[in-house]
Amino acid sequence: MNFKDNFGKISKSIGDKASFAAKKSSELFEVTKINMAIDSEKEKVIEIEEKIGHLVYTAYKEKENVDSSVLKLCRKIDEITENIASMTKKLAKIKNSKFCSKCDLELPNDTKYCPNCGKNLD
Ligand SMILES: [Zn+2]
Repeated sequence: MNFKDNFGKISKSIGDKASFAAKKSSELFEVTKINMAIDSEKEKVIEIEEKIGHLVYTAYKEKENVDSSVLKLCRKIDEITENIASMTKKLAKIKNSKFCSKCDLELPNDTKYCPNCGKNLD
């Protein structure tokens, strides 16, 4: 093998590694971005739950009925929860993982049995 062939092979290998690294780092960026979005959605849920608690207690104190405003806030939580679920699915797709259908543990896509609960995942 002459120098020119060798050099070509080496530079191709470097190129492959670089594009692999670029792909990995853009994946990592995407994963971080989605995780941050999920965290912020979870914070919103906690804020709404606090608001519901305050509304219910105020109503109790004033002997009033707050059904409709509490219901509206509960629906908002449902909306956010759906949003979190779809982001979690997107995240699993990027990370090439899946969730156990029984215990919800995140596992590599090719896992046959859940190591946590023993569920057959085939
Ligand atoms: Zn499981």
